[in-house]
Amino acid sequence: MNPMQKHFDVIVIGAGPSGMMASLTAASSGASVLLLEKKERPGKKLLLTGHGRCNITNICIPDNFRETYHENSRFLTSSLHAFSPEDVREYFLSLDIPTHEEDDGRIFPDAQKASSVCEALGKALVKTGVVLLTESPVKGMEKSEDGWIVKTESETYTSRAVILSTGGKSFPHTGSEGDGYALAKENGHTVTELAPALAPIFLSAFSDASMNSRTEDCGAEFTLAGITLPDVGSSLWIDGKETKAARGDLLFTHQGVSGPAAMRLSRELPSSKGKYEEGSVQFVIDMLPDLREEEVEKTLLSAMSENPNRYMKRLLCETFHLQEKAAILALDGKTMDICAHEVTKETRKAIVRKLKASAFDVEKCTPMDIAYVTRGGVSVKEIDPKTMGSKVKEGLFFAGEVMDIDGVSGGYNLQFAWESGRAAGLAAAEFAKG
Ligand SMILES: Cc1cc2nc3c(=O)[nH]c(=O)nc-3n(C[C@H](O)[C@H](O)[C@H](O)COP(=O)(O)OP(=O)(O)OC[C@H]3O[C@@H](n4cnc5c(N)ncnc54)[C@H](O)[C@@H]3O)c2cc1C
Repeated sequence: MNPMQKHFDVIVIGAGPSGMMASLTAASSGASVLLLEKKERPGKKLLLTGHGRCNITNICIPDNFRETYHENSRFLTSSLHAFSPEDVREYFLSLDIPTHEEDDGRIFPDAQKASSVCEALGKALVKTGVVLLTESPVKGMEKSEDGWIVKTESETYTSRAVILSTGGKSFPHTGSEGDGYALAKENGHTVTELAPALAPIFLSAFSDASMNSRTEDCGAEFTLAGITLPDVGSSLWIDGKETKAARGDLLFTHQGVSGPAAMRLSRELPSSKGKYEEGSVQFVIDMLPDLREEEVEKTLLSAMSENPNRYMKRLLCETFHLQEKAAILALDGKTMDICAHEVTKETRKAIVRKLKASAFDVEKCTPMDIAYVTRGGVSVKEIDPKTMGSKVKEGLFFAGEVMDIDGVSGGYNLQFAWESGRAAGLAAAEFAKG
């Protein structure tokens, strides 16, 4: 870069996946591009994705995007069709990053490394002539008569167009600290309420050292942490009403529950500060989602009469193909070590209820820091979905998570980063040239 150069066609703020894609697209369209990144290197969050393997996109998206991107999914219609998951795969192939499909349509680089994706994008930035300045946090931006003035701590740059791609507010050590929300607000945009999404859920019973309340009930040293219940039903209940349900593997951690289904439900947690009132927010597990309660009862009853001398724990494991610890969840200190013929009708009904709906109190809203994604952001009502251009200020564009869009886990959030980055890059370059 010519150190004297201070004016560019397009300035992109934030070198995450959406900002890098926006920069590459604008530069490939003939614009001079300055990419300003706060941290010492681009893509720090990208390096963490998919447990370091980078779940780059998801091939199921065109069919399921209405439910997987929640209430603002309609906003994605044009950007998604303009740069579909197949287009994303082809684009990365052109950067020498072949990809493959894994379960549930998830797409990963063959190299199985997020660093390979980050490096390929870095090389492409150099090749297309994007000027990348790291350790350059943007402190302010304002509209001038013929474009934009963008200020970092030590320099002032000007441009015709600006793309804001500063990400959300979670995992702040990666640089995503929510700066973009303030910058957008200063320029007349509305920022909707921010909340954690795709986060583990903390359960009250796990907050003490003894791990969970079942320890006492079962009269034995027993911890759920580390066990996975495959393909169970999960639901979140607020003040006695089911708010949302999801199905999938559930992982017990030292603080509560995680895994795709729990993380999917986390965006519905009330964002009140401090601990929730006892019983007000509950996480309910259905260990047998394919069977109705009556069917479970009937099956259990016939298994019990066929095997009157079998211990209930063993009987539940065998009859419903449950892991031992999952069976223990449905039992208590009294029923743990008794045989089927000793079980009363009342107890049997209680076991059935627990198999279908084991309820745990949720302790509190998960801290934003550990959420994978931020729910809320710059209101999409003020953004053109085709160009990602601001309806409030001319020459301002948005890309990625800074906007009020979040998807479920499985490559959905990176897909949005790529497609919105591409749409913003194309439109900003055209605007700058025009
Ligand atoms: C642990 C983890 C795993 C994940 N795994 C996946 C996955 O496998 N698949 C998937 O689809 N999604 C995944 N996600 C979500 C995904 O990483 C994000 O949705 C995506 O990174 C958002 O991209 P972005 O470019 O909008 O923002 P970010 O990646 O957050 O990038 C924003 C960039 O802007 C910079 N910045 C911020 N403020 C300023 C400023 N003032 N000046 C200059 N620069 C600034 C930041 O330093 C950062 O580099 C994961 C998230 C986490 C935390």
